[in-house]
Amino acid sequence: MTIRDVQDQPQGRGQPQGRGQFQGWGQFQGRHRAYPPSTPPVRRGAPQAGRRPRAPSRLPGANRRPDPSRAAALAPRGPGPAVVTALATTAALALAGHVLPAGTWLPGVRRTLFPGLAGTGEPGHVALTFDDGPDPNSTPHFLDHLDRLSVRATFFVLGEAVVRHPALTRDIARRGHELAVHGWTHGRPWLPAPGRDLRDVGRAVAALAHLTGVAPRWYRPPYGILTGGRWLAARRCGLRPVLWTAWGRDWTETATAASVLATVRGQLRGGGTVLLHDSDRTAAPGCWRATLDMLPDLVTHCRAAGLTVGPLADHGIPGVAHPMPAGP
Ligand SMILES: [Zn+2]
Repeated sequence: MTIRDVQDQPQGRGQPQGRGQFQGWGQFQGRHRAYPPSTPPVRRGAPQAGRRPRAPSRLPGANRRPDPSRAAALAPRGPGPAVVTALATTAALALAGHVLPAGTWLPGVRRTLFPGLAGTGEPGHVALTFDDGPDPNSTPHFLDHLDRLSVRATFFVLGEAVVRHPALTRDIARRGHELAVHGWTHGRPWLPAPGRDLRDVGRAVAALAHLTGVAPRWYRPPYGILTGGRWLAARRCGLRPVLWTAWGRDWTETATAASVLATVRGQLRGGGTVLLHDSDRTAAPGCWRATLDMLPDLVTHCRAAGLTVGPLADHGIPGVAHPMPAGP
């Protein structure tokens, strides 16, 4: 994946000065005799005999009262009210276009209006997803647990962690899981900066594709804040944004296996996407242990309800046809 840098256009060299080269002021006057149009006619001819030209009685402008209106006209001017209004309107629209899509963070909004963005798939399937890894302290435990449960999942990883832990990243893919993009860093970009967003997502896509040989297809922004800039960046990188329908609030200091399981079960339906975390990188230290401990019970609960647990690739989200490629 490459990012096109915006390059300044070369400066224009200006228009040619007409046919032929400029020959001097005389030529200019000959071609433009009426210039300048407001110049009063100049009296020509010799002064009258015996009369000395009268010296001006006073210098132009001397003892003349300053004209306030003229001073105001000559004073340097800022942009007019219309320009200021237009600039303010443009800035407000840019900010609204950036921030308003983040309203999809509200579960009711996206479940009702954007089921694909919420991660609603086939009714008999539950997508299991983990955010904020890879983390050498915790992610390997999740991989072992998932192996024991014969479950594959989708890991939304951070680009900066991917390049710091390439072997672990490859191991996630090697064990049959799906890697997806959570961004390069875990920030909250409330001010619009499309170039920054594109760079952030594009770098993460490139890092994953380079390490695993498989281009990621999903994007979940940090904190679920899908700004207009992030949405645009994801689409330009060929990613589909997906949030979640159920979470476990597993990032809190007070989270326990029982509380995380109860929270997920309270929201989960067939076709839902579960958000959990395999790292405490942006959460309370050690909170991932609660998530790890509840995994067997969550899988048991889903299977008892006749639901298959798997990655987003197998979730049957409308518009995504191709199945998940086999891991290397
Ligand atoms: Zn996150």
